Amino acid sequence: MIIKPRSYPIRLRNLEALHRRLPPSHPKRSLVQDSLARVRAGYQGEKSIDFHLKFIPQKDYLIIHDLRLFDGQHFFQMDTVLVSRKFILILEVKNVSGSLCLNSDIHQLTRTSNGKEDTFPDPILQIERQQMQLSKWIESYSSKLPIEAFVLFTIKSAILHLKNDKDSERILKSEGLLSRFNMIEQRYSEEKINSATLHLIASQMVREHTDVHQKILGAFGIRESELLSGVHCQACSGNMVWKRRAWECISCFLKSKDAHIQALQAYACLRHPYIYNREARAYLHFDPEHIVKRMLVNLGGKKIGATKSRKYEIPL
Ligand SMILES: [Zn+2]
Repeated sequence: MIIKPRSYPIRLRNLEALHRRLPPSHPKRSLVQDSLARVRAGYQGEKSIDFHLKFIPQKDYLIIHDLRLFDGQHFFQMDTVLVSRKFILILEVKNVSGSLCLNSDIHQLTRTSNGKEDTFPDPILQIERQQMQLSKWIESYSSKLPIEAFVLFTIKSAILHLKNDKDSERILKSEGLLSRFNMIEQRYSEEKINSATLHLIASQMVREHTDVHQKILGAFGIRESELLSGVHCQACSGNMVWKRRAWECISCFLKSKDAHIQALQAYACLRHPYIYNREARAYLHFDPEHIVKRMLVNLGGKKIGATKSRKYEIPL
Protein backbone atom coordinates (compact mmCIF):
# COMPACT_ATOMS: atom_id res chain seq x y z
CA MET A 1 0.00 0.00 0.00
CA ILE A 2 1.40 3.39 -0.96
CA ILE A 3 1.42 5.68 2.07
CA LYS A 4 3.42 8.50 0.46
CA PRO A 5 2.89 8.90 -3.27
CA ARG A 6 5.56 10.35 -5.50
CA SER A 7 4.93 14.06 -5.98
CA TYR A 8 6.18 16.28 -8.78
CA PRO A 9 9.78 17.12 -7.75
CA ILE A 10 10.28 20.69 -6.50
CA ARG A 11 13.69 20.82 -8.17
CA LEU A 12 12.14 19.87 -11.52
CA ARG A 13 9.39 22.50 -11.16
CA ASN A 14 11.99 25.17 -10.30
CA LEU A 15 14.24 24.19 -13.20
CA GLU A 16 11.28 24.37 -15.60
CA ALA A 17 10.47 27.86 -14.33
CA LEU A 18 14.11 28.94 -14.67
CA HIS A 19 14.30 27.52 -18.19
CA ARG A 20 11.23 29.52 -19.21
CA ARG A 21 12.45 32.73 -17.59
CA LEU A 22 16.05 32.71 -18.84
CA PRO A 23 16.66 34.84 -21.97
CA PRO A 24 17.44 32.67 -25.05
CA SER A 25 20.95 34.15 -25.32
CA HIS A 26 21.85 33.69 -21.63
CA PRO A 27 25.32 32.07 -21.24
CA LYS A 28 24.05 29.57 -18.62
CA ARG A 29 21.11 28.39 -20.71
CA SER A 30 22.72 25.12 -21.86
CA LEU A 31 23.80 24.35 -18.28
CA VAL A 32 20.20 24.81 -17.10
CA GLN A 33 18.91 22.77 -20.06
CA ASP A 34 21.27 19.83 -19.26
CA SER A 35 20.29 19.89 -15.62
CA LEU A 36 16.60 20.03 -16.54
CA ALA A 37 16.96 17.03 -18.89
CA ARG A 38 18.80 15.03 -16.20
CA VAL A 39 16.27 15.75 -13.44
CA ARG A 40 13.34 15.09 -15.80
CA ALA A 41 14.86 11.73 -16.85
CA GLY A 42 15.39 10.82 -13.19
CA TYR A 43 11.72 11.49 -12.46
CA GLN A 44 10.60 9.45 -15.51
CA GLY A 45 12.82 6.60 -14.31
CA GLU A 46 11.31 6.67 -10.83
CA LYS A 47 7.80 6.63 -12.27
CA SER A 48 8.68 3.68 -14.51
CA ILE A 49 9.20 1.34 -11.52
CA ASP A 50 5.57 1.80 -10.42
CA PHE A 51 4.54 -0.90 -12.87
CA HIS A 52 6.77 -3.47 -11.13
CA LEU A 53 5.75 -2.32 -7.65
CA LYS A 54 2.11 -3.16 -8.43
CA PHE A 55 2.95 -6.86 -8.23
CA ILE A 56 4.25 -6.63 -4.67
CA PRO A 57 1.68 -7.83 -2.06
CA GLN A 58 0.06 -4.52 -1.12
CA LYS A 59 -1.24 -5.60 2.28
CA ASP A 60 2.20 -6.59 3.61
CA TYR A 61 4.25 -3.62 2.42
CA LEU A 62 3.96 0.07 3.12
CA ILE A 63 5.47 1.95 0.20
CA ILE A 64 6.98 5.41 0.64
CA HIS A 65 8.18 7.36 -2.38
CA ASP A 66 10.71 10.15 -2.41
CA LEU A 67 11.70 10.21 1.24
CA ARG A 68 14.25 12.59 2.78
CA LEU A 69 15.10 12.12 6.46
CA PHE A 70 17.57 13.56 8.95
CA ASP A 71 19.80 11.05 10.75
CA GLY A 72 20.81 13.49 13.49
CA GLN A 73 23.78 14.81 11.52
CA HIS A 74 22.90 14.75 7.82
CA PHE A 75 19.89 14.56 5.54
CA PHE A 76 19.61 11.50 3.31
CA GLN A 77 17.27 10.93 0.40
CA MET A 78 15.78 7.66 -0.87
CA ASP A 79 13.78 7.17 -4.09
CA THR A 80 11.46 4.44 -2.74
CA VAL A 81 11.30 2.59 0.58
CA LEU A 82 9.24 -0.55 1.30
CA VAL A 83 8.58 -1.29 4.95
CA SER A 84 7.24 -4.64 6.19
CA ARG A 85 7.15 -6.57 9.46
CA LYS A 86 10.12 -8.62 8.24
CA PHE A 87 12.50 -6.18 6.57
CA ILE A 88 12.94 -2.79 4.90
CA LEU A 89 13.92 -2.45 1.27
CA ILE A 90 15.44 0.74 -0.21
CA LEU A 91 15.24 1.20 -3.98
CA GLU A 92 17.62 3.60 -5.68
CA VAL A 93 16.56 4.29 -9.27
CA LYS A 94 19.01 5.17 -12.05
CA ASN A 95 17.72 6.30 -15.41
CA VAL A 96 21.03 6.24 -17.30
CA SER A 97 21.39 5.02 -20.88
CA GLY A 98 24.39 3.76 -22.84
CA SER A 99 27.06 1.24 -21.98
CA LEU A 100 27.71 1.35 -18.24
CA CYS A 101 30.71 -0.06 -16.44
CA LEU A 102 30.90 -0.23 -12.66
CA ASN A 103 34.26 -0.75 -11.01
CA SER A 104 33.41 -0.91 -7.32
CA ASP A 105 37.10 -1.36 -6.37
CA ILE A 106 37.73 2.24 -7.29
CA HIS A 107 34.09 3.35 -6.82
CA GLN A 108 33.55 4.52 -10.36
CA LEU A 109 30.63 4.17 -12.73
CA THR A 110 31.55 5.02 -16.32
CA ARG A 111 29.06 5.52 -19.13
CA THR A 112 30.01 5.33 -22.80
CA SER A 113 27.44 6.74 -25.18
CA ASN A 114 27.94 7.97 -28.76
CA GLY A 115 31.71 7.77 -28.32
CA LYS A 116 31.60 10.04 -25.28
CA GLU A 117 32.62 8.98 -21.78
CA ASP A 118 31.04 10.27 -18.53
CA THR A 119 31.54 9.22 -14.94
CA PHE A 120 28.98 8.96 -12.18
CA PRO A 121 29.31 8.31 -8.43
CA ASP A 122 29.38 4.65 -7.33
CA PRO A 123 25.69 3.74 -6.71
CA ILE A 124 26.69 0.90 -4.34
CA LEU A 125 28.42 3.36 -2.05
CA GLN A 126 25.29 5.47 -2.24
CA ILE A 127 22.94 2.67 -1.12
CA GLU A 128 25.37 1.55 1.59
CA ARG A 129 25.31 5.08 2.97
CA GLN A 130 21.49 5.09 2.81
CA GLN A 131 21.36 1.75 4.66
CA MET A 132 23.68 3.07 7.38
CA GLN A 133 21.77 6.32 7.79
CA LEU A 134 18.36 4.65 7.80
CA SER A 135 19.49 2.10 10.40
CA LYS A 136 20.70 5.00 12.56
CA TRP A 137 17.34 6.75 12.11
CA ILE A 138 15.35 3.63 12.95
CA GLU A 139 17.40 2.62 16.03
CA SER A 140 14.96 4.16 18.48
CA TYR A 141 12.03 2.14 17.05
CA SER A 142 13.57 -1.23 16.31
CA SER A 143 17.11 -2.41 15.91
CA LYS A 144 15.95 -5.81 14.72
CA LEU A 145 14.53 -4.88 11.32
CA PRO A 146 17.06 -5.73 8.57
CA ILE A 147 17.57 -3.15 5.81
CA GLU A 148 18.21 -4.26 2.23
CA ALA A 149 18.89 -1.97 -0.75
CA PHE A 150 19.02 -2.34 -4.54
CA VAL A 151 20.08 -0.08 -7.36
CA LEU A 152 17.63 -0.38 -10.26
CA PHE A 153 18.62 0.66 -13.78
CA THR A 154 15.42 1.52 -15.64
CA ILE A 155 16.49 2.00 -19.26
CA LYS A 156 15.93 -1.24 -21.19
CA SER A 157 18.64 -0.58 -23.78
CA ALA A 158 21.34 0.27 -21.21
CA ILE A 159 24.13 -2.32 -21.03
CA LEU A 160 25.56 -3.04 -17.59
CA HIS A 161 29.10 -4.36 -17.05
CA LEU A 162 30.07 -5.17 -13.48
CA LYS A 163 33.76 -5.65 -12.72
CA ASN A 164 32.93 -7.54 -9.52
CA ASP A 165 30.33 -10.29 -9.89
CA LYS A 166 29.17 -9.86 -6.28
CA ASP A 167 27.78 -6.42 -7.19
CA SER A 168 25.00 -8.16 -9.12
CA GLU A 169 23.46 -8.98 -5.74
CA ARG A 170 22.61 -5.30 -5.35
CA ILE A 171 22.52 -3.92 -8.89
CA LEU A 172 19.97 -5.00 -11.49
CA LYS A 173 17.70 -3.89 -14.31
CA SER A 174 14.27 -2.85 -13.08
CA GLU A 175 12.53 -5.71 -14.96
CA GLY A 176 14.18 -8.08 -12.49
CA LEU A 177 12.80 -6.33 -9.43
CA LEU A 178 9.98 -8.78 -8.72
CA SER A 179 12.05 -11.98 -8.92
CA ARG A 180 14.78 -10.41 -6.78
CA PHE A 181 12.15 -9.22 -4.35
CA ASN A 182 10.81 -12.77 -4.00
CA MET A 183 14.30 -14.03 -3.17
CA ILE A 184 14.68 -11.43 -0.42
CA GLU A 185 11.24 -12.26 0.93
CA GLN A 186 12.22 -15.92 1.30
CA ARG A 187 15.43 -14.94 3.07
CA TYR A 188 13.53 -12.93 5.69
CA SER A 189 10.60 -15.15 6.55
CA GLU A 190 10.49 -14.24 10.25
CA GLU A 191 8.41 -11.30 11.51
CA LYS A 192 10.62 -8.92 13.50
CA ILE A 193 7.99 -6.37 14.50
CA ASN A 194 4.23 -6.39 14.93
CA SER A 195 1.71 -4.59 12.77
CA ALA A 196 1.35 -1.65 15.19
CA THR A 197 5.12 -0.99 15.19
CA LEU A 198 5.21 -1.30 11.40
CA HIS A 199 2.60 1.42 11.04
CA LEU A 200 4.27 3.57 13.68
CA ILE A 201 7.67 3.41 11.93
CA ALA A 202 6.27 4.04 8.45
CA SER A 203 4.04 6.93 9.48
CA GLN A 204 6.91 8.50 11.43
CA MET A 205 9.06 8.31 8.29
CA VAL A 206 6.40 10.18 6.32
CA ARG A 207 5.95 12.73 9.12
CA GLU A 208 9.67 13.46 9.31
CA HIS A 209 10.11 13.81 5.56
CA THR A 210 11.62 17.20 4.70
CA ASP A 211 11.64 18.66 1.19
CA VAL A 212 14.80 20.32 -0.13
CA HIS A 213 14.29 24.03 -0.63
CA GLN A 214 17.38 24.90 -2.57
CA LYS A 215 17.66 28.39 -3.96
CA ILE A 216 17.84 27.53 -7.62
CA LEU A 217 19.21 30.92 -8.76
CA GLY A 218 22.02 30.71 -6.20
CA ALA A 219 22.88 27.18 -7.34
CA PHE A 220 23.46 28.45 -10.89
CA GLY A 221 24.93 31.81 -9.91
CA ILE A 222 22.14 33.69 -11.72
CA ARG A 223 20.75 37.01 -10.45
CA GLU A 224 17.03 37.91 -10.41
CA SER A 225 17.76 40.87 -12.67
CA GLU A 226 18.92 38.47 -15.43
CA LEU A 227 15.49 36.80 -15.64
CA LEU A 228 12.68 37.74 -18.02
CA SER A 229 9.64 39.41 -16.51
CA GLY A 230 6.17 39.90 -17.99
CA VAL A 231 3.42 37.50 -19.02
CA HIS A 232 4.40 34.96 -21.68
CA CYS A 233 2.36 33.00 -24.18
CA GLN A 234 2.18 29.27 -23.47
CA ALA A 235 2.12 28.45 -27.17
CA CYS A 236 4.98 30.55 -28.55
CA SER A 237 6.63 32.19 -25.48
CA GLY A 238 5.85 35.61 -26.96
CA ASN A 239 4.92 38.53 -24.70
CA MET A 240 1.27 38.92 -23.80
CA VAL A 241 -0.63 42.14 -23.22
CA TRP A 242 -3.95 42.72 -21.41
CA LYS A 243 -6.75 43.50 -23.84
CA ARG A 244 -10.44 43.59 -23.05
CA ARG A 245 -10.35 41.37 -19.93
CA ALA A 246 -7.86 38.82 -21.25
CA TRP A 247 -4.20 38.42 -22.12
CA GLU A 248 -3.33 38.35 -25.82
CA CYS A 249 -0.05 37.20 -27.35
CA ILE A 250 1.54 39.90 -29.51
CA SER A 251 3.04 37.23 -31.80
CA CYS A 252 0.44 34.48 -32.27
CA PHE A 253 -2.63 36.33 -30.86
CA LEU A 254 -3.50 33.46 -28.51
CA LYS A 255 -5.89 34.64 -25.81
CA SER A 256 -5.81 33.58 -22.18
CA LYS A 257 -7.64 34.71 -19.07
CA ASP A 258 -5.11 33.23 -16.65
CA ALA A 259 -1.66 33.48 -18.29
CA HIS A 260 -0.56 35.66 -15.33
CA ILE A 261 -0.83 32.63 -13.03
CA GLN A 262 2.07 30.80 -14.66
CA ALA A 263 4.09 34.03 -14.63
CA LEU A 264 3.43 34.54 -10.91
CA GLN A 265 4.20 30.89 -10.15
CA ALA A 266 7.59 31.32 -11.85
CA TYR A 267 8.09 34.34 -9.57
CA ALA A 268 7.34 32.12 -6.56
CA CYS A 269 9.73 29.37 -7.72
CA LEU A 270 12.61 31.66 -8.58
CA ARG A 271 12.28 34.79 -6.46
CA HIS A 272 9.91 34.77 -3.52
CA PRO A 273 6.78 32.85 -2.44
CA TYR A 274 5.01 36.15 -1.56
CA ILE A 275 4.50 39.27 -3.67
CA TYR A 276 3.27 42.85 -3.03
CA ASN A 277 0.79 44.49 -5.42
CA ARG A 278 3.38 47.03 -6.64
CA GLU A 279 5.94 44.28 -7.25
CA ALA A 280 3.35 42.25 -9.17
CA ARG A 281 2.49 45.28 -11.35
CA ALA A 282 6.15 45.85 -12.20
CA TYR A 283 6.75 42.14 -12.82
CA LEU A 284 3.64 41.57 -14.97
CA HIS A 285 4.21 44.88 -16.87
CA PHE A 286 0.61 45.73 -16.08
CA ASP A 287 -0.45 48.76 -14.12
CA PRO A 288 -4.13 48.82 -13.02
CA GLU A 289 -3.85 48.29 -9.26
CA HIS A 290 -7.42 47.04 -8.77
CA ILE A 291 -7.17 44.38 -11.51
CA VAL A 292 -3.81 43.14 -10.19
CA LYS A 293 -5.30 43.05 -6.71
CA ARG A 294 -8.14 40.84 -7.94
CA MET A 295 -5.64 38.56 -9.69
CA LEU A 296 -3.59 38.21 -6.50
CA VAL A 297 -6.65 37.57 -4.31
CA ASN A 298 -7.96 34.99 -6.80
CA LEU A 299 -4.74 33.00 -6.49
CA GLY A 300 -6.27 31.86 -3.21
CA GLY A 301 -3.12 32.00 -1.10
CA LYS A 302 -2.52 33.55 2.31
CA LYS A 303 -2.63 37.33 2.74
CA ILE A 304 -0.23 38.96 5.16
CA GLY A 305 -0.33 42.55 6.44
CA ALA A 306 -2.77 45.47 6.35
CA THR A 307 -4.43 46.72 3.15
CA LYS A 308 -1.74 49.15 2.03
CA SER A 309 1.26 46.91 2.70
CA ARG A 310 -0.38 43.56 2.09
CA LYS A 311 1.59 40.77 0.51
CA TYR A 312 0.04 37.77 -1.20
CA GLU A 313 1.18 34.17 -1.17
CA ILE A 314 1.53 32.55 -4.61
CA PRO A 315 0.35 28.93 -4.26
CA LEU A 316 2.10 26.36 -6.49
ZN1 LIG B 1 1.93 33.24 -28.75
